[in-house]
Amino acid sequence: MLKRFIAYYKPHKFMFAMDMLASLMISVIGMVYPIVTRRMLNDLIPNKKFRAVVFAGLIVLGLYVLRLLLRYFVQYYGHMVGTAMQAQMRRDMFAHLERLPFSFYDDNETGKIMTRLTSDLFDICELAHHGPENLIISTVMIIGSFIYLCTINIWLTLIIFACVPLLLFVSMRLRRRMRDAFADRRKSNAVINAAIESSISGIRVTKAYTNAEKEMEKFEVGNSQFVDACRRAYRAMAAFHSTSSFITDVFNVIILIAGGIFLYAGKIDFADYSAFIVSVNLFISPITTLINFMEQYQNGVTGFERFIEILDEEPETDSTNAVDIGDVKGHIELKDISYAYTTTEDGEEEKEVIDHLSLDIKQGETFALVGPSGGGKTTICHLIPHFYNVKKGTIQIDGKDIHDVTMESLRRNIGIVQQDIYLFNASIKENILYGRLDATDEEVVEAAKRANIHDYIMTLEDGYNTVIGERGVRLSGGQKQRLSIARVFLKNPPILILDEATSALDNTTEILIQKSLDDLCKGRTTLVVAHRLSTIKNADEIAVIAEGRIVEQGSHEELMAKGGMYSELYKLQFRANTGEDVA
Ligand code: ADP
Ligand code: MG
Repeated sequence: MLKRFIAYYKPHKFMFAMDMLASLMISVIGMVYPIVTRRMLNDLIPNKKFRAVVFAGLIVLGLYVLRLLLRYFVQYYGHMVGTAMQAQMRRDMFAHLERLPFSFYDDNETGKIMTRLTSDLFDICELAHHGPENLIISTVMIIGSFIYLCTINIWLTLIIFACVPLLLFVSMRLRRRMRDAFADRRKSNAVINAAIESSISGIRVTKAYTNAEKEMEKFEVGNSQFVDACRRAYRAMAAFHSTSSFITDVFNVIILIAGGIFLYAGKIDFADYSAFIVSVNLFISPITTLINFMEQYQNGVTGFERFIEILDEEPETDSTNAVDIGDVKGHIELKDISYAYTTTEDGEEEKEVIDHLSLDIKQGETFALVGPSGGGKTTICHLIPHFYNVKKGTIQIDGKDIHDVTMESLRRNIGIVQQDIYLFNASIKENILYGRLDATDEEVVEAAKRANIHDYIMTLEDGYNTVIGERGVRLSGGQKQRLSIARVFLKNPPILILDEATSALDNTTEILIQKSLDDLCKGRTTLVVAHRLSTIKNADEIAVIAEGRIVEQGSHEELMAKGGMYSELYKLQFRANTGEDVA
């Protein structure tokens, strides 16, 4: 893992090296003051060398000015290096997220993913530059001051040095507790963000059901879990800090007493005793810094682990010898396919959702899937563009197994309109352009016209530049669906999948949109899933799907004559529909 972390330093090698050099100089300058003090006490003052005193003072001042500049450099560029690394990690993670399959998003909440992209990565950035800075400064200071203290009085120094292992032992023990506590806190933070994301996205439902109280209760669960996790983390942190400070305080006491005894015994003179007391902090404070660094290290490491966890998720990859599918005519064949969703995180308890199913959809034909909900129709629609991998059997397009073609080329040839439309919070034009990014303005208008939305767009003050709000909240259901149809018109794929495209709409709107859809189907192979059977009466072929299997198949007339499940469903809907459609 460390190796993967270090890789992120590579592009910033130079700046990072300068940062470290500056840190090193800062710590060396830090040693000057006690050295000068000692000289003053031992030599300059007793011998009344006042000119030298002033001179020494000026040198120290000069060095402090230099340190001012160095500190500015380290603070500014150090953080910038960290930020650049963080940006690179975020970029890598986002690119990876774009490549992860549907199944990943079935199992992971948006809010949790966002936490990893933001606050988790922030802590890594802090660690990235403070970590090495602290390590360098402290190590140099510890070694340097140790040597220097030895030159003053070797025995006193060894006494102090002998106490260091105790300090390390205690802090290591406390550190472990802190690590677990911080990992917990991070998880709770992600839970809160996920809860917020879910509640805010569902705010309209909440209002409709006046369930604000309920939402607050749900939120409070995560919120108080976070407080508990923080409590544990801060308790561990408090124990850690207070104990390690206490130990360093004890160091000072030891020096005071041991030094006093040495002085009494005549093993050290008064000036050296004073110098030692001033200098000993040079030795102790970097140890404290190192200990504090451990806390930051914990935070950064747990963040980086969570980052790596996402990067190690298996992305969608084409098989090694996958080729571009080329020009697609549109013959789709499902041969004895089976599929099961992985319902638990460890991949057990699989339930067959598609069960040895075969379909042959000829080029240019309209093929309808109907049947009870939960039967597996949407799953079939998602298997054809390779959003999920079939577990058994093969799917072929124009005789080519979809496993052997690149996903990019496959999906380029398939247009999907679903009941659930996702529109981006951007202008109408940008949303239509999503169908084909390089389309011209004229093509966008043409697509909008064919989707019967152009006239409406023209009534808007900003026309095609109107921003439609998050998920398109400023549009009606029918308008949203028309925009998504315009997208597909622009994409102009040979294969079209309509999954209950109009089911959410009212009857009048459905009839109007159906006209656009009929137009869209022309000249394409169309797989249509419909809830209202009246809309697919004219399909070339209809298959009734239930429990992942085909129950019966044929044209509308054939199926009606058969008197099976289809005719039952049809009669049921027709009866309900006499006069007014209430289905
Ligand atoms: P239909 O579109 O015919 O109503 P679906 O294909 O959506 O049916 O669902 C078929 C079955 O698969 C249902 O039992 C449903 O609960 C299950 N299912 C659908 N999507 C998922 C998913 N992402 N993860 C787990 N199970 C799913
Ligand atoms: Mg469905």
